[in-house]
This record gives sequence, structure tokens and C-alpha cells, in this order.
Amino acid sequence: MREISISTLTLSWSHLLLFASISLHFVLGISGDSNSSSTGAKAESHTSSSKTGTKVILVLLGFGAVAGVSFFLYKLWQKKKRDEQYARLLKLFEEDDELEVELGLRESEADVVVIGSGIGGLCCGALLARYDQDVVVLESHDHPGGAAHSFEIKGYKFDSGPSLFSGLQSRGPQANPLAQVLDALGESLPCKKYDSWMVYLPEGDFLSRIGPTDFFKDLEKYAGPSAVQEWEKLLGAILPLSTAAMALPPLSIRGDLGVLSTAAARYAPSLIKSFIKMGPKGALGATKLLRPFSEIFDSLELKDPFIRNWIDLLAFLLAGVKSDGILSAEMIYMFAEWYKPGCTLEYPIDGSGAVVEALVRGLEKFGGRLSLKSHVENIVIEDGKAVGVKLKNGQFIRARKAVVSNASMWDTLKLLPPGALPDSYVKGVNTTPQCESFMHLHLGFDAEGIADDLEIHHIVVNDWDRGVDADQNVVLISVPSVLSPNLAPPGKHVLHAYCPGTEPFSLWEGLDRRSAEYKNLKSQRSEVMWRAVERALGPGFKREKCEVSLVGTPLTHQRFLRRNRGTYGPAIEAGKGTFPGHSTPIPQLLCCGDSTFPGIGVPAVAASGAIVANSLVPVSKHSQLLDAIGL
Ligand SMILES: Cc1cc2nc3c(=O)[nH]c(=O)nc-3n(C[C@H](O)[C@H](O)[C@H](O)COP(=O)(O)OP(=O)(O)OC[C@H]3O[C@@H](n4cnc5c(N)ncnc54)[C@H](O)[C@@H]3O)c2cc1C
Repeated sequence: MREISISTLTLSWSHLLLFASISLHFVLGISGDSNSSSTGAKAESHTSSSKTGTKVILVLLGFGAVAGVSFFLYKLWQKKKRDEQYARLLKLFEEDDELEVELGLRESEADVVVIGSGIGGLCCGALLARYDQDVVVLESHDHPGGAAHSFEIKGYKFDSGPSLFSGLQSRGPQANPLAQVLDALGESLPCKKYDSWMVYLPEGDFLSRIGPTDFFKDLEKYAGPSAVQEWEKLLGAILPLSTAAMALPPLSIRGDLGVLSTAAARYAPSLIKSFIKMGPKGALGATKLLRPFSEIFDSLELKDPFIRNWIDLLAFLLAGVKSDGILSAEMIYMFAEWYKPGCTLEYPIDGSGAVVEALVRGLEKFGGRLSLKSHVENIVIEDGKAVGVKLKNGQFIRARKAVVSNASMWDTLKLLPPGALPDSYVKGVNTTPQCESFMHLHLGFDAEGIADDLEIHHIVVNDWDRGVDADQNVVLISVPSVLSPNLAPPGKHVLHAYCPGTEPFSLWEGLDRRSAEYKNLKSQRSEVMWRAVERALGPGFKREKCEVSLVGTPLTHQRFLRRNRGTYGPAIEAGKGTFPGHSTPIPQLLCCGDSTFPGIGVPAVAASGAIVANSLVPVSKHSQLLDAIGL
């Protein structure tokens, strides 16, 4: 950029000098001619003086011309400079971070600096802006949203991660945490509602409906009457517990004693009412909310293999661990949303990216800033406190109140200077078990030959015996253009298939992404997804006719989402460990996102971002917000 402007400048000046010398040469040439004529002829003094006058006029005219041309060229040069400056500024506001720094235009201070624009970081940043805090969200990638970002290729708009949503449009105390954040920001998300997904199980293929009654029919057909009885027993035991699991609105939680005012006191009457409604047995059951879900169905003596496999699948999809590792509260929350009368699933009309856009709109509407392509290299510690961050380009951004990391626990550790954290904390992070990574398949293809009533979601389980967490065993497929045709060019479909948190990073570790070995492994390990897609879409689908086909590996996942070993998140099992809270041993450094309580998944990370934002403002402000949105 600078080189271009310097060379343009040089060009302008050389043009100017060239024009001036030509003009002078011309003027001097005229005056030379008149000199020679004056020596040659002894003319009358009148003629001579009139000739001298003409010469003077000509010389003056010559200089005038030079000055005029110079002035014109100078103006031209000024205009060009202005245009260049304008173009630079335009670029600055559109994208170029380095230029921003170069021009010294970006404020290098904020109350709170958030590292990462995943759903957790955006919820935290946007709520802080809503609380009138000066907040900047720094994102390494050129797209916001982290695991939930969308990207576009050849007119196909791809979801990179989540596509299974519910409760996005719910409002009120029992709403999904993300919906509560959107409500606080005054943002809404137009969604398409639906209530079924196709499953391809060893027992057979069927359309599974959420809701209290339809699933019984599937059970009857594929698993038999004993499975139906056990499912009834399970719902009967856990749905009443959902009143307790959902009694405290996620937005009322904060990480300090202020929670006694914003949650406990505020919702005590409704909590007491729900416990009375549950009766002594139910209230006793509620004490199991923070225990593994398997304890609940073991206590109910559920034995049907289909039911146990199904619960494991749901738990794994929800949290990356099976039913013996997932918190009962998390499962019960999901059951309440999926198996209550009138429940539906929701898909945002403009794709998962619309969730991110709504949060970014909310952030910016309240004066918060999002800076893309701003990779944080270090968290800066002064006097033992987190006081800001240093970007990859060397810029320091001071955080007056706090630094919040939305990066995973392992990635946050890498941002801190050695010795900043106690050894026990570092050891705790380094020994936290990790979920594996992902294989992705993104396809854009012609809808001709594909059934008109194709479902948006498909789940393929190849072998129950291998377990839902085994590699190459479970494939999830989402075809969002079925509900949102605007996500693909007319007459086309956009599809994302993936192996959910089951692809071992170790298989890919150290491979050169340009090597033949990498390419071969990619083709070998993606085959299971291709076959699942062919099974779900039927013979009308031809893989060789796809207009876009992209295979992502754990290395892709690691690179694009800046996630250590491309992990889905911490594999913390309820009963054996708990997700870390949001504070750290370093004052003014907090964390949000799927490495913190309550864990993995869009609703969970939204809750974590909200808890951190609430904790950074006084109780009075927090209470005012709860009042404002009627919680
Ligand atoms: C394929 C897939 C499908 C999923 N499906 C579902 C689903 O259907 N439903 C559901 O509820 N959940 C689903 N999930 C889980 C859910 O998407 C994630 O748990 C959640 O989005 C994680 O959000 P987060 O805020 O914790 O972090 P992330 O999304 O990981 O965001 C962290 C951000 O921090 C940035 N960052 C990291 N380091 C730095 C740095 N040094 N400087 C600047 N920026 C940095 C990263 O670039 C990233 O943007 C899915 C996940 C995946 C991968």
C-alpha cells in the first residue's frame, strides 16, 4: 500500500518537472531568437523597445503558463492523494487491520477485551455492550462465530458447525439461554419450525419425530412394547424434574455472591412453588441434577438396549460424552424441550450464520466493537493482573477492567507467559481429557433427482456395539436448503455431513496438508460420510456431479477454528469432574465458552458468556436488565 502511494507520488512530481522544463525551454527559446535578431539589425529605438516589451510579455506569459500548468498539476496531484487516502480509509473500515494500526485510528483501550468471537465470546461481548461497557471482541479468523460460523462458496452458504437448534424463539424465564441473550439485545431470529429427523440405525431407517406421542410409535415398531414402557417410565420420572432444572433463568446467574440477589432471592418463590409441585420424591430427584444421567435411568432399572443406545446417542450429540458422563440437568433440559407437547426444532432461515449475525448486530448496536483478523498472541500480565492483550501485529490493547478468553482452555494457556499460573492449574488443564476432532464433508449439488420431501437432518449409526463415540461409526447430515432454499443457488442443495467429535487427531498429527499421504488419508477417511450421504439422499444423488465438494479433517478444524488438536471440547464426565468455573487464578482474567461451565453446545456456551458478562457488572445493573426483559 505504502509502496504504491510513494511511486504514484514520484510519478506525479516527475510529470510536473517535465512539464515545467518543457515550458521554460519554450520561453527561453523565444527569448534567444529575439536576442539574435536584436544584434543583427540596427533598428529604430521605438521598434527595439517595442520588441523588448513583446519579449517581456512573452517571458511573463511563459512563466504564467508554467505556473498555470504547475498549479493545475498540483491540484491534480492533491486530488489523487485525496482519492488514495479515501481508498485507504474505505479499506480500513472494510477489512484491513494492519492499515488501521498503521493509521493509528483504532482505539487501543477498552473496559473489557474478549478474545474470540465464538457464540460464547459474542454473547459475553454483546451483553457487556448492553450493560454500557466499552467492549472489543478480537477474532483471529476473518469470519466471526467460531465453530458456528458460515462461509459461502459459489453461491452455496455452508454451516461450519451447529445446525440442530431448538428454543431460539422462546422467551421468558424458562427460555434457552441464547434466546434470553437475544431478547436482552432486542434481536430476533426468523426460523423455520420442524419436528422430525431421519435415522438410519442397525434396526432400520425411520423418521423420528420429537414430541411426546410420535416417538412411541417408532419405538413400538423398531424396538417393541417393552421399549415403549421403559420410555414412558423415563419421561414420567424426568419431565417433572425439568421444572427444577429450568427454574433459574440462565441470564440470572453470575459468578459472585450477587447471585443471591439476582437468582436465589428473585426466583425463590417460583423455586419453592416448583418443589411443592414436584412433591418430596421429585424434590429428592432434583438433587440428582448434577449427577450423571445414567444414574437416573439405572435407578429406574431401564434395560432395553434400544433405549440405552438412543440415550447414549442423544447425550453424545449434546455434550460429546455418553449418558454416564453427561449432567442430568443438561439431558433433562433437552428432554423438556424435545418431548413436551407442542415442542419443535428450529432452523434459522439464513443458516447458523444468522445466529452469529444477530449477536454481532446486538454487540455493535450497543457500541461494542468486533475486530476480525486480530489474532491475540499474548495476554499481558502486569503486577499479577491481566491488563490487556498483544496482537500478532504487535499492537497492545489495554483492558481497563478485564480480559475474557473465549478460546479453549488449552489455547488460553498458550497465551499466558510461563509462570503466570500456578503449576497445579496448568497441570489441571493439561490433564483434562479432550473429545476427539471432526471429519467434515461440505457439498453443493443439483436438487434434480433428490426427493422433494427430503428431511433436513439425518443420523446414520453403523454399529451400536462399537459405541456412539467410536470413530467412523456415526455420521450426521444436515441439508438446510430443504427448509431455507436461499442458502443455495436456485434448484440446488447445500449439505454438511460430519463425524461428530469422533475423528482421532493423532491419525493426522504432523501430516503436511500438501502431501500425497494427507490426500490419501482424506479420501479414505471421508468415505464413510460419502456413503452415509448416498444412503440418505438415495440413488438420485451422484457424488461426481457435486458442484462443490470440500473435505475437512482435524487439521482443517484446528486451523479454521483455532482449536487445540481440533477438539470438540473437554470430555469431562459428570460424577468424575466438573466443568471449570469462569474465573482464573489471575485477577481480571476470565473465561467463557465450551471449556467452562456448563459445557459444550450452543445453549451452554451462550449461558457461559452471559454468566461472565453478568459477573463483570454491579448487581444493580444486572437486576435492571432482568427487569427490562421481564425475567
Ligand atoms: C460440526 C459441529 C456441529 C455442532 N453441532 C451442534 C448443534 O447442532 N447444536 C449445538 O448446540 N451445538 C453444536 N455444536 C457445538 C457448538 O457449536 C460449540 O460447542 C460452540 O459453538 C462453541 O462455542 P465457543 O464460544 O465455546 O467457542 P468457539 O466456537 O470455538 O469460538 C472460539 C473463537 O475464538 C477464536 N480464537 C481462539 N484463539 C484466538 C486468539 N488467540 N485470538 C483471537 N481469536 C481467537 C477462534 O477463532 C474462535 O472463533 C457443534 C460443533 C461442531 C464443531
